[in-house]
Amino acid sequence: MKLIFVSGGVISGLGKGITASSIGRLLKSRGLKVSAIKIDPYLNIDAGTMNPFEHGEVYVLDDGGEVDLDLGNYERFMDLELGSDHNITTGKVYRSVIENERRGDYLGKTVQIIPHITDEIKHRITSVARESGADVVIVELGGTVGDMESMPFLEAARQLGRDLGREENVMFIHTTLIPIMGSVGEEKTKPTQHSVKELMSIGIRPDMIVGRCSEPISDSARSKIAMFCDVDEKAVISAPDAKSIYAVPLSLEEQGVADYIIERMRLSPLTSGRDMKDWESFLDRILHPTEHVTVAIVGKYTSLADSYLSHLEAFAHAGAERRCKVHIRFIDSDDLLSKGTDLLDGVHGILVPGGFGIRGIEGKIVAARYARENGIPFLGVCLGFQIATIEIGRDVLGLKGANSTEFDPDTKAPVICLMHEQASVSSMGATMRLGSQRVLLAEDSKAAGLYGSTDITERHRHRFEVNPEYIDMYESAGWRFVGRSDDGHRMEVGELKGHPYFVASQFHPEFKSRPMAPSPLHLGLVDAAIAYKNDMD
Ligand code: GLN
Repeated sequence: MKLIFVSGGVISGLGKGITASSIGRLLKSRGLKVSAIKIDPYLNIDAGTMNPFEHGEVYVLDDGGEVDLDLGNYERFMDLELGSDHNITTGKVYRSVIENERRGDYLGKTVQIIPHITDEIKHRITSVARESGADVVIVELGGTVGDMESMPFLEAARQLGRDLGREENVMFIHTTLIPIMGSVGEEKTKPTQHSVKELMSIGIRPDMIVGRCSEPISDSARSKIAMFCDVDEKAVISAPDAKSIYAVPLSLEEQGVADYIIERMRLSPLTSGRDMKDWESFLDRILHPTEHVTVAIVGKYTSLADSYLSHLEAFAHAGAERRCKVHIRFIDSDDLLSKGTDLLDGVHGILVPGGFGIRGIEGKIVAARYARENGIPFLGVCLGFQIATIEIGRDVLGLKGANSTEFDPDTKAPVICLMHEQASVSSMGATMRLGSQRVLLAEDSKAAGLYGSTDITERHRHRFEVNPEYIDMYESAGWRFVGRSDDGHRMEVGELKGHPYFVASQFHPEFKSRPMAPSPLHLGLVDAAIAYKNDMD
C-alpha cells in the first residue's frame, strides 16, 4: 500500500485539492491505478448539513454520500467514482470510537486520542486504500498544519509513515504560500520555512514542497527553500497562478513531479511516457475559444462561486467541447424581483440550479418565465426542475398559487409535493433521495439525443417531486415528462414542446460531468445558447 499525504501550510485556500487532483491525474496518465481520500477535520459527520454559503457546494457521490467539494475535483481530474468513506471527518472518527467504547470494545481501557482516535483514522485510511485496489492513494489533509483540529490526523499520518515504511511507501507533500513583497517583487520564503518547521515538530519531514505564488518561483528561492526545509531542489515545485485549473497538471508535469514521485516511491508505471495528449487538447480548447456565450446562473448562493462549483466545471467541460467560452453571470434571484428582468439582458442561456428553502423562489420563477416566453435556452436542475414545473402550472395551466409544499404547505395546487415512498435517508434525519438512480428517457426526447441513450443513471439529492396527480394535465399542455424513474413513478426530466431548449431534470447532471465527457444537459444548453446567439447577430 502506497500513500501520498498532501498537507497545507501558511494559509487555507491554497488550492491543495487541485494540487492533489493534478498529481493523481499525472500518475494515472502513466497507467497507475490511483484513488483519493479527503480528510476534513471538522466535527460534522458529513457535508450534508453544511451551508453552501460557508463551505461551497455539497457534492453528491454515487452511493449518496454528501461530501466536501474537493471530492468533485478528484472525480473530475482522475476520472474516478468515489464512495463516501473516501471523505473522513472528525465527526465520523469520533462517532465510531464512541460507539466502540459504549459496546465495551476497549475492555475497560481509558479511551484516548492516541492511540484510539489515531488508530481509527489509520484503520479508515488503510481500509479505503486496500478496498480501492489502487497502486497509490492520495490523502489530502484539510485545514492547515498547526490547526488544533488537524493534530490527530497528522499524528496518524506520521504513524502510517512508520508502519508502512517511510522509504518508499509513504510520501509527504506540503503546499505553502510564497508571497511576493515590495516594489522589487521579492519572493518571501520565510512563511514556508516556518510552516515546514511546524510540520517537522510533529515528526513529519516533507519530501516535496509545492509553493503557491502569483509568479513562477525563481531558482534562488527554490534553492533557499530546498536548503532550509531539507528537501531535494527538484522537489521544490512552483505552482504559479494558472489561467485554468486544468492547466495545473501540465505545469506540474513539466517540472517532473510525477517522475520524482514514481522514483521516490518505486512505483511501476505501465507506460514510461505520459499520456496527456487528450488533456492538452482539452486545455487548448478551454484557453483558446472561438465562441463566447453568457449564461446566467439564477440562485440564492450566488455570493460564493464555490456554491455552484460543479455547474461551473460542467460549463467549462461543455464549452471546451465546442471551443466556446461560457461566461457566467451570477444573479441573485431576489434581485430579479426588486430590479427586474433587465438583469437578464444579453444572456444566451439561463440555469436555475438546486437549492433548499423558500428564499429566492419567486425570483427563480421570474427567470423561468422569462426564458420560456422569450425562447431563451433554459436548464433547470433539481429545484430548477421544480421551479419550471411551478411556473408552467401557474402561467400555462392557470393553476392559481401553484407551488411546492416545501414553500407553501397549504397551496391549493401542490404541483410539487413530498415524495410518497422514500428511497434513502440522509444524515439530517430528513428523508432524502440520494445518490445514483436509474432514469429512463423517451426515445424522441432531446435528453435521449444528448445522452445517446434512453437508459441512464444520474445522481440525486431531493425530498420533493412532481405530484403524480398533475402529470396528465402538464403533458397535454406541452410540458412533457420525458424522463422517469425506472419504476415509472417519479418524474425526472421535463421538456417543453415548441421551445428551442427548455429542459429540466430532477437529478443533478453536473456531478458526473468530466473533462472530455461533459454533462449532456449542460452541453445541450451550450449548443442552444450558441444557436440563440447566432440567431440574434
Ligand atoms: N428543495 C428541493 C427538494 O428537496 C430541491 C433540492 C435540490 O435542489 N437539491 O426536493
